[in-house]
Amino acid sequence: MIAILALQGAFAEHELMLQRLGAETRLIRNLEDWNKTLPLKGVGRSGLVIPGGESTSMMRIMKDEGLFEPIREAILGGLPVLGTCAGLIMLDRNHLGVMDILAKRNAYGRQLGSFNAEEEFKGIGNVPMTFIRAPYIEEAGPDVEILATVDGKIVAARQANTLVTAFHPELTDDTRIHELFLSML
Ligand code: GLN
Repeated sequence: MIAILALQGAFAEHELMLQRLGAETRLIRNLEDWNKTLPLKGVGRSGLVIPGGESTSMMRIMKDEGLFEPIREAILGGLPVLGTCAGLIMLDRNHLGVMDILAKRNAYGRQLGSFNAEEEFKGIGNVPMTFIRAPYIEEAGPDVEILATVDGKIVAARQANTLVTAFHPELTDDTRIHELFLSML
């Protein structure tokens, strides 16, 4: 069962892609949805997706809904999580604090606000990458495995049960990032 945080942003595209891959999904809009979907500590074949969107709003709604602490605890308890774009920011040291990374928000400036790239992703090969006012990872601790870079900037990484991309894998036809995530369950 994959819980998809659906407070705002690009959650529907993740839902479609995961369903295409045969995963069962539930949208999480509030604490009740969360409590119905997942045990407090991640066990079995559960996972969580934190989508792209706007990290400041997502953070505020997550706190208002009482979801911040339960989600943080579940991830620290081992729940596999995929964070894309704003979702990457949510996992960093300054937000949920479950990954030893520091995200630089809106890192590519106005001119390059949105762009496509195709780069090597460790273990997968060349992957199409769609960036929308994206962050990159400006600091990564020693336990963080760097999975992809664009122009020398880290755009994908993994640490234990956490996987993040600065780009939007749910906006392409390429399902391999989601398959990698499902393999972590
Ligand atoms: N710029 C957004 C933020 O800082 C992230 C953009 C996205 O998720 N596409 O939250």
